[in-house]
Amino acid sequence: MIRISLPDGSVKEVEAGTTILSVVESIGPRLAKAAVCALVDGELKDVRDPLIQDGSLTVLTKGEPQVLETIRHTASHVMAQAVKRLFPNAKLGIGPAIDEGFYYDFDLADSLTEDDLDKILAEMKTIISQDLPILRKELPVNEARELLQSLDENYKIELLDDLSEIEGETITFFEQGEFIDLCRGPHLQTTGMLASDAVKLPSVAGAYWRGDEKRPMLQRIYGTAWETKADLEAYEWRQEEAAKRDHRRLGKELELFSIHEEGGAGLVCWHPKGARLKRTIEEFWYQQHDLGGYEIVATPHIGKAQLWSISGHLDFYRDGMYSPMDIDGVDYYIKPMNCPYQILIYKTKGHSYRELPLRMAEMGTVYRYERSGVLHGLMRVRGFTIDDAHIICRPDQVDAEIRRVYAFSMTMLMAFGFEEFEIYLSTRPYEGKAVGDEAQWEQATDALRAALEDRGLPYKVDDGGGAFYGPKIDIKVKDTLGRSWQCSTIQFDFNLPNRFDMTYIAEDGKEHRPFMVHRALLGSLERFIGCLIEHYGGAFPVWLSPIQANVIPIADRHVDYAHEVAEKMKAAGIRATVNETSERMNAKIRTAQLQKIPYMMVVGDREQEADAVALRLRTEQDLGDMKVDDVIGLIRSKIESKAQDLT
Ligand SMILES: [Zn+2]
Ligand SMILES: [Zn+2]
Repeated sequence: MIRISLPDGSVKEVEAGTTILSVVESIGPRLAKAAVCALVDGELKDVRDPLIQDGSLTVLTKGEPQVLETIRHTASHVMAQAVKRLFPNAKLGIGPAIDEGFYYDFDLADSLTEDDLDKILAEMKTIISQDLPILRKELPVNEARELLQSLDENYKIELLDDLSEIEGETITFFEQGEFIDLCRGPHLQTTGMLASDAVKLPSVAGAYWRGDEKRPMLQRIYGTAWETKADLEAYEWRQEEAAKRDHRRLGKELELFSIHEEGGAGLVCWHPKGARLKRTIEEFWYQQHDLGGYEIVATPHIGKAQLWSISGHLDFYRDGMYSPMDIDGVDYYIKPMNCPYQILIYKTKGHSYRELPLRMAEMGTVYRYERSGVLHGLMRVRGFTIDDAHIICRPDQVDAEIRRVYAFSMTMLMAFGFEEFEIYLSTRPYEGKAVGDEAQWEQATDALRAALEDRGLPYKVDDGGGAFYGPKIDIKVKDTLGRSWQCSTIQFDFNLPNRFDMTYIAEDGKEHRPFMVHRALLGSLERFIGCLIEHYGGAFPVWLSPIQANVIPIADRHVDYAHEVAEKMKAAGIRATVNETSERMNAKIRTAQLQKIPYMMVVGDREQEADAVALRLRTEQDLGDMKVDDVIGLIRSKIESKAQDLT
């Protein structure tokens, strides 16, 4: 007998091998009917899976986030069944659940069209309405092979060969009606547990078998499946919204940046408006760092092989570096990181314990190799600027410094309007050689944890997920669509201080090794701006808007007055422009609206007379006539408070 503990604290004693479903049936028939899948000791299981040892059991029903994977995986089987009904010669590849959906790969003679996808979806709905029971089967390896051979599923046989080494004697299959598939599950109990109005097949694309370009190209049908129609619609809305907010599209429309075929993939050119945005961020960043006790430094873009050899980058980071260039017979590399040069600055003189902590920061542009296939707008590039700093401190300062830098990074990110975060603490790796002694790791990890606890925001621990040279905190921001983006990293380093033999003279008059922390708050400035563009859909808060106010003269005779207003605005530190084109007023308003300029100021005879403007917002709100000085006051207050609203 084995002991299965349930969430209410009770314990059931059952024979080993009893299925989860029969335990659930003994709890209640209604729960058994509604069961989608289960967690056994935290691991997702099919309800037909046998219980083999003592453990905890939680039944999952609809409404719980973990059930989506089971729903989607089942939808992928239903799709495969539909494809086999319509194209009996189709061979099956793999069909997993993925983030927000599922796919299945098929080897098919004809390429699938939109029309085919419609037919497949219609057939899926038939299968769902047939409410076929989904059965779990275990077969010995040889019978499994015979079955797959009789079905002529050569790709599955290849998978079986890999599986049988791992799984031993038996292989699981799931069967619904005439369809059977090699699979571990979990699956729903019947096809009818899927909501047929919550499934869609958005697209089909080519995919190499096992991602190997030497193997056959299969057709991958992407699908999405949700619990309810409303969930599907919400997902589709998010997709549309994400497409509208795509920073590559907005980057072009708002004239922020471009990437050129002739210049090279992943290399970004900032246009005047994008550069204005970037400069606004940088100016704020410099100002905050001056206030925050940092010293600003600047370092070269290339460095001798000797430097990258001392730092270890040539040994451990070569894949991320570009080929060397020859200068007077010596190899130079373009820098993938800023740290080594900042350390050289530290080492130009001796340091007393009284000078620490030393916080050195720079907007350092680095170049790292990324495969061309993964490059994506501003999010994945080959050249980018890191808001990079290194904190060098004594052991007794570690706690205070970490608290300080963590608070600093939250303040920075919140200034840009982010309110939700995902925070991770990564600790010492279990495998491989970690540098630094146990006590250092413990002190550093404790300091990171204490800072996190202090602030009280929830965080996750990536146990053993740290780099070999030190533990770290990562902070991701969540955007309006709930997607998260990597921004801040606070990373201890027990490696570089040794490699560069960094020291300070302690109170005992002897040389000691300082602690060093790498930190970036915004991370890659390129990615951060890409994220801001998508978060705001290009409609930035006033302080970040490349153009904050656009003056629109109604007729030619108002152009001089329009310039007078714009000059007054500029003198007050507001980025204002005049639309002098011969467009009609409504067209000018539309242009400003499309450029997402927060304030539009229409000027005609009446406004000129009264030293006023007719104020319109990009939200299409009309505030009527206002005195120029009052408008300046309003805009200034929005800039200074970094407000999200316009009024
Ligand atoms: Zn499956
Ligand atoms: Zn660094």
